[in-house]
Amino acid sequence: MSYTLIQEKIDQGKIILLDGGIGAELEKKGAKMDQNLWCGKCSVDSPEFLKEVHENYIYAGADVITTNTYATTPISLRKHGYEDSIELFNKQAVQIAKQAIDNSKKSVCLAGSVSSYGSFIKLGTKSMKPSFNEQIKILSNEGVDLIILEAMTSQAEIVETMLECSSNIKLPVWLSISCVIDENTKNITLGYDDVKNKTKIYEDLEESLKNFSKLHKGPILIAHSDIKTTSAALDTALKNYNGVIGAYPNKGYYEKPNWKFVDDFSPNDYLEVAKKWVSKGVKIVGGCCGIGVEEIKAVSILKQ
Ligand SMILES: [Zn+2]
Repeated sequence: MSYTLIQEKIDQGKIILLDGGIGAELEKKGAKMDQNLWCGKCSVDSPEFLKEVHENYIYAGADVITTNTYATTPISLRKHGYEDSIELFNKQAVQIAKQAIDNSKKSVCLAGSVSSYGSFIKLGTKSMKPSFNEQIKILSNEGVDLIILEAMTSQAEIVETMLECSSNIKLPVWLSISCVIDENTKNITLGYDDVKNKTKIYEDLEESLKNFSKLHKGPILIAHSDIKTTSAALDTALKNYNGVIGAYPNKGYYEKPNWKFVDDFSPNDYLEVAKKWVSKGVKIVGGCCGIGVEEIKAVSILKQ
């Protein structure tokens, strides 16, 4: 489907439903997660499961589904010995998602996920650029309808580099960022807490959003952050960014290479939270890790 239909819905003030997490849903189906490429390897190893996950999200009501390319960044594939398969993993993921859309006969847009997976700050943004450009090019050439920059757990500097790399393509660009609450000040910040590696990154969210808006006019989504943090970050984003705001939070936590599910939040609970976001002006709602088909089905009533 062309992006025009999504743009029309946005212009009419309608709610756009995004899919939920892919990796955790693949796990539920029994697909094997890879120590290094996480669910990225499933595009080649478990294409049928992947197609089913996409189809389930489409039938749940998603207007936009995302390619399983979050973990198949050129930088990560090269690091783990798959330098000859960069095109294969990324192209295959697009083709599987396209098949799912074709099979459904529904008007669904395909977002190509370009991520900072494997791009740790110590690499320096200069060395990440070729990876971002390469993945953007492969996904664009393969026919996605939009690019979603999934800059999750990234510093502002990396986000800006990704925006810069996407500025020359003809496709619409969405930006996803993740946030965390500063342990000491309790302020909402751009960044993350990596307990295992004892890394804490807290950057001013307001200032970061202002800087991002100089490079980006498309939707900004708060993603891969827990629900409480997402709610706080959305308040800041709605105040500090004039464009479209969206959200796709997490539920549970990651223990390499598996997503650990927690059962403390029902699909209906998610709907209640999403209703509040929408009443404040959030226009795009979906899910990240641990928010699956049932939750997307539950929030699909917001589209009416
Ligand atoms: Zn996630």
